[in-house]
Amino acid sequence: MDQHTPWQATYLRRREWVRTIIRGVALLIALLGSLGLYSFTGAVIGAAAGMSWMNILGTIGAPLTYFSVAFALGWFSTRLSRWIVPLPEPGCPRCGYSLKDLRSPICPECGLDLRPAPSDRSG
Ligand SMILES: [Zn+2]
Repeated sequence: MDQHTPWQATYLRRREWVRTIIRGVALLIALLGSLGLYSFTGAVIGAAAGMSWMNILGTIGAPLTYFSVAFALGWFSTRLSRWIVPLPEPGCPRCGYSLKDLRSPICPECGLDLRPAPSDRSG
């Protein structure tokens, strides 16, 4: 069931790539949130020093927001990548020509070889 034609594999690779980028961005946001934790430490010290609770909540809120966004990005990275790189109707990965009723493994529009890589074939 999970057999992918070469053009599908191209899109799946692109999707994988997009997902990796999304996760990288999520990690970056989480790192920014961690930097915000320094101010969290500052808030604790501030509380000890008699800082108001509103100020402390404001300081903790920022890293919490960062972590929430990072977590959401990581959680939805697969769905996001599917949304960013939709799997189109069977078509040529190079020119998008519809290959629905195609018999030949060569794209009639741009001449792209749609067969698996030559290394997959013996002989
Ligand atoms: Zn083509």
